[in-house]
Amino acid sequence: MTKELVAIALGGNMILQKGQPKTYEQQMKNLRLAIEVIVDIIKQGYGIILTHGNGPQVGNILVQQKAGVTRGIPEQPLNICGAMSQGQIGFMIQTALEERLFDQGIVDKCVVAIITRAIVDHNDSAFKEPTKPIGPFYTEEEAIELHRKTKDSYINDAGRGFRKVIPSPIPLQILEGNTILRCVKEGDIVIAVGGGGIPVARENGNFIDIEAVIDKDRATDVLATQIDADILMLLTDVSNAYLNYGKENQKKIGKISIKKMKEIFDEGHFAKGSMRPKVESAISFIEHGGRLSIITSSKDALAALKDKAGTRIVK
Ligand code: ADP
Ligand code: MG
Repeated sequence: MTKELVAIALGGNMILQKGQPKTYEQQMKNLRLAIEVIVDIIKQGYGIILTHGNGPQVGNILVQQKAGVTRGIPEQPLNICGAMSQGQIGFMIQTALEERLFDQGIVDKCVVAIITRAIVDHNDSAFKEPTKPIGPFYTEEEAIELHRKTKDSYINDAGRGFRKVIPSPIPLQILEGNTILRCVKEGDIVIAVGGGGIPVARENGNFIDIEAVIDKDRATDVLATQIDADILMLLTDVSNAYLNYGKENQKKIGKISIKKMKEIFDEGHFAKGSMRPKVESAISFIEHGGRLSIITSSKDALAALKDKAGTRIVK
């Protein structure tokens, strides 16, 4: 029997960093490094569920869809592209992880990647206000024309050009939760909830296709809560969540009670779309009975589990 169950979300930078070539080789190189600490955690006896972002990968798949049209291949919708990216990244993590496990003499672990869907409410207020930019960049004229034809919304994304924006609803339930738990109980290492899961809504037993993207940290919390994990660990490119981040008086948050963290949250220290969803998820996990939420870098992950580094939120 394993020690405790940890749900670990891998930050986007662990698969591909800004400015790097978007090749298979580069992504594998990054993942081989990222996975070292995961194997260290496995060696400590923890049960593991890995989740991951998919922003750059699904972005590239969307660009490939547009390009394929000129060769007679119809564009596939976003949910299909999300599934493709889960398969792609899941496969890469499987490869990197199993090679490293083998290196370390661990040969009795099965690593499995599960295509994962997240239930959302199609009346979620997020559908009234799309906020998340995705896919190719367009000129303003192209964006206006596309909006006229499709009614999709477009925004100027940080001065880099115009992109389509889609809603980011709250995940309610991970459909594969029970299957994931069964695998983990068998000792398998599960990769799931890629890119926050493929959003679906259900009406009278039928699935409704949803064009949206779910925050992977929120979805990881939902899964962790659903399967009664002990620890939620959100790995990113900073060692801690900070007070006054980026300012002269910035200060690392170490071990902290949920009550205090909520006060800090309300003071507005955490940027929307990056640290904010992590802190929200970390708080929610403890509120729903989790033992420990960690926000840290992969470098500090092991020390954080030993209560010696990272932001650690407890009851
Ligand atoms: P990931 O792919 O790991 O989810 P994000 O970019 O979404 O990465 O989130 C991590 C980023 O959050 C950090 O690189 C940092 O720039 C930003 N951030 C915003 N507010 C804070 C804060 N208060 N403390 C620490 N980092 C913060
Ligand atoms: Mg993020």
